[in-house]
Amino acid sequence: MKAAVFHGAHQPLSIEDVEIDRPLAREVVVRTVASGVCRSDAHYVDGLYHYPAPSVLGHEAAGIVEEVGELVRGLQPGDHVIANLSVFCGSCERCLTGHPNLCESQETRRAPGEPPKLRLASTGEPLHQFFDLSSFAERMLLHENAAVKIRDDMPLDRAALISCGVMTGLGAALNTARVEPGSTAAVFGAGGVGLAAIQGCRIAGARQIIAIDVIESKLELAKELGATDAVDSSQDDPVARVRELTAGGVDYAFDAIGLKDVSRQAFDCLRAGGTATVIGMIPEGDKVELDGTSFLMEKKIQGTDMGSNRGPVDIRRYVDFYLQGMLKLDEMVTRHCNLEGVNEAFRAMKAGEVARTVIMFE
Ligand SMILES: [Zn+2]
Ligand SMILES: [Zn+2]
Repeated sequence: MKAAVFHGAHQPLSIEDVEIDRPLAREVVVRTVASGVCRSDAHYVDGLYHYPAPSVLGHEAAGIVEEVGELVRGLQPGDHVIANLSVFCGSCERCLTGHPNLCESQETRRAPGEPPKLRLASTGEPLHQFFDLSSFAERMLLHENAAVKIRDDMPLDRAALISCGVMTGLGAALNTARVEPGSTAAVFGAGGVGLAAIQGCRIAGARQIIAIDVIESKLELAKELGATDAVDSSQDDPVARVRELTAGGVDYAFDAIGLKDVSRQAFDCLRAGGTATVIGMIPEGDKVELDGTSFLMEKKIQGTDMGSNRGPVDIRRYVDFYLQGMLKLDEMVTRHCNLEGVNEAFRAMKAGEVARTVIMFE
């Protein structure tokens, strides 16, 4: 099969022939139909985060089950699935206390000594599987808990977005921050994840949602998707502007970019008792510095892992939200391309031209 291979930071992904293994007892092979191109993939290509090479990146995908291992009971060939990068065991303490996104078990992964899932066809060299998925490939070999069966009437390019960006942004508002009806919120960054966080605040019933970005077209889209106000932080000081718009600060703030200064700004624009949630991936080694006296006003800051998701529960809810018209995804798919277009998709994302490019495999 064809896959986009990562040979190390600062080099474009290269399209190569890759061999995929047969599924073991609790694994499934999924034919990839659509894979979103997410900023986290770009972080590894840009060297801001490190991942072993060679590997196949991509972690936001939907597809159709092709083959299942002998012990798989919940999936069969032909099922439409969304890839769940929070693969969970279902039996560890984290899983059993309602936090499957923080699963600590290794039993969902192949053990040392078992054959590699992916190899380069040219040399036979094993490839690392990125986030247990590796979706920049025509097929994915997944643990059964990394594939969630969804309704057949859900379009798979829209479904792909739920796999990472939407689950992360929507979940940050609904699960991690637990935004209350009638509250106020500020979202820094109006890319794929930020737009999903804005929609999460809208769905939760926030009365005022302030989108902050430096690109006018992204702020326009944010307003279409639920922002009540927009702040261009290339023109205005976002903290001062948010305080002014809300007469003192917001109940919830989200850093959907992942920069230490943005996390600090998110914290600084809270009212007393407010909570900032850092969603974006702050580059390795960076430290966030906060005003110490703010803690006396019960201001809080927290992280989120994949929107504190409960895998299959949230994925199927978000599919229903889309099909009921509550969650808007059509507006978030800016472009489609084929696998060869992956490097161009990274460029367009970093230039702020797209909310999401979705790679289509057929
Ligand atoms: Zn992602
Ligand atoms: Zn677990």
